[in-house]
Amino acid sequence: MNTSSAALSVGKEMVCYCTRCKMDLGHTIMSMVGGMPSRVICRTCKSEHNYKPKKGVKEPGATATGSTRTAAPRVAREAKAEKTVPVELEWMKQLNASNRPMREYAANESFLLGDRIKHPTFGEGVVQRLVHPNKVEIIFRMDIKVLIHAGAPKN
Ligand SMILES: [Zn+2]
Repeated sequence: MNTSSAALSVGKEMVCYCTRCKMDLGHTIMSMVGGMPSRVICRTCKSEHNYKPKKGVKEPGATATGSTRTAAPRVAREAKAEKTVPVELEWMKQLNASNRPMREYAANESFLLGDRIKHPTFGEGVVQRLVHPNKVEIIFRMDIKVLIHAGAPKN
């Protein structure tokens, strides 16, 4: 019978203004009064608040009038965040390149460039730099660490 307001009902999702996030976001309708949403829950910040109509605000600080900002800056930011330091790739390369036997790491052992190290915490790694006088820079799967060792063997 009633078809005009069929789209809005309790439990349905709609885009309206979030008073906490200060922008238009998807909300779940919690209660209806007179065919209009009364209380809504923001799907982003999970706060329940009174229904506010859309303001056309897409980002905090942006104004509804004259704002032609698109999603482009956000996409760029996300792409940058995903581009993490490829330590793992470098680690894999060096581990494959080295044909030294795997040695247990110990601070009183001495290690050489290219030595393969097994560390109780960091796992397998490769010595990629000797730091004078008694430190070695080792590339592990997740991180590059500078660890102490006995130093270069004296001849
Ligand atoms: Zn919110």
